[in-house]
Amino acid sequence: MYPWMGKVLNWSAALRDKPYKNPRGTYQGILADLPRDTRVTVVGKEQGWLRIDVTRDGRLLKGYVSQELIGYVSPKLAVAPRKLAQYQAALAANDWLDAATLLNGFKDTDVLVLLKKLSAPQLAQMKQGAIRGLLIPLRVAQPIELLNPFASIVGSKLARAHQQLEALRVQFQATVISREQWGARPPDKSKGWDEYPKNASLPLYRIVVHHTAEPQHQTARQLQDKEMDDAGYSDMPYHFVITGNGKIHEGREMDVVGAHAGLIKGNKDIKKDPDYGSIGIVLTGDFESRIQNGWSPDTPTNAQLTSLQLLVNHLVQQYQLDPANILKHRDVERGGKVTVCPGGKLASHVDLIRTRTQKTVKELAEAEAQLAAAEQEAAKLK
Ligand SMILES: [Zn+2]
Repeated sequence: MYPWMGKVLNWSAALRDKPYKNPRGTYQGILADLPRDTRVTVVGKEQGWLRIDVTRDGRLLKGYVSQELIGYVSPKLAVAPRKLAQYQAALAANDWLDAATLLNGFKDTDVLVLLKKLSAPQLAQMKQGAIRGLLIPLRVAQPIELLNPFASIVGSKLARAHQQLEALRVQFQATVISREQWGARPPDKSKGWDEYPKNASLPLYRIVVHHTAEPQHQTARQLQDKEMDDAGYSDMPYHFVITGNGKIHEGREMDVVGAHAGLIKGNKDIKKDPDYGSIGIVLTGDFESRIQNGWSPDTPTNAQLTSLQLLVNHLVQQYQLDPANILKHRDVERGGKVTVCPGGKLASHVDLIRTRTQKTVKELAEAEAQLAAAEQEAAKLK
């Protein structure tokens, strides 16, 4: 039971060097007079006297105080002050994963004492922090369940909502190799160059998927060389290139109008061009069965399809696009001009990817709503 924290109840309490009564009322061996509310550490007891550690003016004093003069405050924490300060900082920052992780490293008695100091909403948050932050959350979660079963249930709900959201958010993350990283050539702006208006959000509203109709093992740089040197483009015509290994490469920059879905190069009214507002994504490969490939088209690799899905999800979220506007090049209205792009072997995958994006975007919105509801429930706990 020792040590515990106490405080002086009376106007003052004499701290003595020995535990003895003075029947005549004249004090002897007094080390200090402790004023009311002085915090002391009670380290033991001898007859009617408590053995006390107390800090006065920066000095640690050890002595005895009559037991009726000291009130119980709480058990003394075993945790080191530095660790306790870290824990309190995590609490103040509402960093529940960190707080639960620190708490999990404390002694059971400390865990209980510190949990008792938390409000019901905080207990719920601590429970979710324990579930998400700890491999085995039991040491933190179990006392919470005992202290406040309702907070404990809401805490589990919060944890589930967070975990669901995290799992979904991963599906909106795509790693893109920058132009600098893959060694892109600078654009040749003399060959047609249109930038979207500055200081306004980009007027992007759809994604158009293509194939290169070139070898699947072609690199981004090889494709750029071909488009600039042979086809006469100012730069990579597309905003993204997904090579056979599934790596996503940055193409022309997002604030530059693409040259992949339009009718003609150097269109007079750029705003009426199908390229305007269209994000171009190309997969390397020739996915259409045709005489040029001996009627044996490439098949998009799993890595390419996985990357396409992630990239499309990411772009739909980043630019708030309607997932219905994920198009195959052949779906783009271009004044009757027909194309087979992105080829028969990729076309059905684009339709599938569109459906999956629609589903994932919906799931993300639902998960966000669920978390908000759980947060609200936690805040209302008493
Ligand atoms: Zn195309």
